[in-house]
Amino acid sequence: MAEIELRGVTKRFGKMIAVNAIDLDVEAGEVMCLLGPSGCGKTTTLRMIAGLEWASTGDITIAGRRVNELRPAERDIAMVFQFYALYPSLTVAENLAYPLHVEKPTREQIEMRVQRIAKLLELEHVLDRLPGRLAEGEKQRVAVGRAVIRDPTCFLFDEPLSRLDIVLRQEMRGQIKTLLSGLKRASVIVTHDQIEALTIGDRIAVMRDGVIEQVATPHDIFASPANIFVAGFIGTPQMNLIEGTRRENIGARLTIDALDQHIGLPIDGTARALPAIGERLTIGIRPRAFEPVNDAGPDAISGTIDVIEPMGAETLLHLNIGLHDLRVVLPRGGGFRPGAPLHARPLEGQVLVFGADGRRLPL
Ligand code: ATP
Repeated sequence: MAEIELRGVTKRFGKMIAVNAIDLDVEAGEVMCLLGPSGCGKTTTLRMIAGLEWASTGDITIAGRRVNELRPAERDIAMVFQFYALYPSLTVAENLAYPLHVEKPTREQIEMRVQRIAKLLELEHVLDRLPGRLAEGEKQRVAVGRAVIRDPTCFLFDEPLSRLDIVLRQEMRGQIKTLLSGLKRASVIVTHDQIEALTIGDRIAVMRDGVIEQVATPHDIFASPANIFVAGFIGTPQMNLIEGTRRENIGARLTIDALDQHIGLPIDGTARALPAIGERLTIGIRPRAFEPVNDAGPDAISGTIDVIEPMGAETLLHLNIGLHDLRVVLPRGGGFRPGAPLHARPLEGQVLVFGADGRRLPL
């Protein structure tokens, strides 16, 4: 049985359904990120697990115990909102130990817990310092340590890094991941930042309009999105989603009419899961899944370079194809010029196909 289980959990605010009959399992030792656009129900889901909102229907179980009617303090959870201020007159060790006093532990127990957290967060060398003499990153780590030093069944984080500047955020992502894997508890993190979810999460639940669209590992969410929404939501630059109609194969390859071209794709055109000839489909190709070719052959997509965005070692090209903008990322230094033609061939094994209902076809 999973450490946190949600079964058919719904939350209504009046007539508005914020979370709609979701199921979710978070295993012990697992970090689950709830990711999705603003208003999709992430925070409401977290607050229902925490006991800060009642579920309208459904069951919430923590460590095998149904907790629907329990208050937050009775659920054996630690909830970390945003990082809060430290006590300036207490040392780092005293700040870390502060939440433990309610449990009335012995000095040795306090010492042991503080040392453990300090080790996980690389704070051992500053334990005797006052917060005023810490670097910003160290202060944040103490704040996190203080939030997680109690040893509950699970940790719930609501946008824990959203207030940090970009450099500190990058640094903290890695540290939170190390910390949580060391603590071996079930953790749920709400974030709208996909990089955060992809780096910290063992699995990600992608939400939209109160429902969970997909739960999978970061790799599978990226490589095998369940549907067009997840495909377009994850990954930067955004995946190209091209609507078209299946036509007769070119050779053995799947061929579509799209962007006013016949495009032969590196997919076996006889695969049984493919839509019939004449049916609508959408193909998904990530901007990095192209190689440039010299000619407008049957297996290339051709357009005119519209905008060039240097991205360090790579260049993002926007190709103008009629009204469509095709995003293609190629290594820097290709001598790209606005207005020049470009022929881009989708790479073998990197084209996704979605049926008319938006679901990815298992090819
Ligand atoms: P964000 O990333 O913007 O915080 P979210 O995915 O966390 O968004 P929620 O805060 O869970 O979304 O909100 C889901 C929906 O429920 C939204 O439409 C929101 O306006 C609505 N909602 C949330 N709390 C309440 C409330 N107390 N009363 C009425 N509606 C609410």
